[in-house]
Amino acid sequence: MDAPATLTSGRRRPRVRTYSIARYHPGQPAFDLEICLHEQDGPAAPGTAWALAAQPGDQVAFLDEGYRYQPAAGTEWQLLIGDESALPAILAILADSTDALPTEVFLEVPTDEDIRHDVSTSAQITIHWLPRSNSAETTVKPGSLALQASKNARLPQGPFYTWAAGEAALVTGIRRHLVGERGVDRSAISFRGYWRHGRAAL
Ligand SMILES: Cc1cc2nc3c(=O)[nH]c(=O)nc-3n(C[C@H](O)[C@H](O)[C@H](O)COP(=O)(O)OP(=O)(O)OC[C@H]3O[C@@H](n4cnc5c(N)ncnc54)[C@H](O)[C@@H]3O)c2cc1C
Repeated sequence: MDAPATLTSGRRRPRVRTYSIARYHPGQPAFDLEICLHEQDGPAAPGTAWALAAQPGDQVAFLDEGYRYQPAAGTEWQLLIGDESALPAILAILADSTDALPTEVFLEVPTDEDIRHDVSTSAQITIHWLPRSNSAETTVKPGSLALQASKNARLPQGPFYTWAAGEAALVTGIRRHLVGERGVDRSAISFRGYWRHGRAAL
């Protein structure tokens, strides 16, 4: 059956992938994306392939999904958790809130080389970098180090806001842990699966 005239058929529909705006360039029609060049299924994954081949002057279309980072009034500190796909978003949150809330960050990355030594932080911000390459295990499922480290962490006292993003099992696992074992109110947690291990985005 043909698609209705107002819809684009599956074969002609453009591939869509979601990325965070890492940095705006005020006064210019420009912003930066930081895209993981993962090769789980070879370099042909549409987002990875696009990032590898992108040239100045290429055309893209984009839709703004909005902003999900929303600590409530009364929040005394915040917990940010993610893997490399959430690194741009977490660094953007930190850049926008340098003098704001005390912050604990658990950020898992593929290797030591992915640690961002140039991140300017205040004394209020502690970043726990978790490179998978440092793990004693030969294969580490992405997200598992950040999940384990967050679960084991001694967290500060007081009402806090959690923002978690990355591999789906990481974010669902951390939410389950915070709600079930630390008694955190669901409304104080923003979480989003950014990708699913072994499964391509639609
Ligand atoms: C709101 C939001 C913001 C995001 N921001 C960013 C961002 O700033 N930078 C960024 O790099 N990603 C970001 N992501 C994640 C990104 O959209 C996904 O990783 C996406 O699936 C990549 O598309 P792809 O075509 O490269 O791979 P797909 O075609 O989706 O997947 C192909 C294979 O690669 C695996 N795969 C997908 N993503 C990853 C990954 N990150 N690491 C390892 N293996 C993977 C899949 O499991 C699958 O086996 C964001 C996602 C959301 C929802």
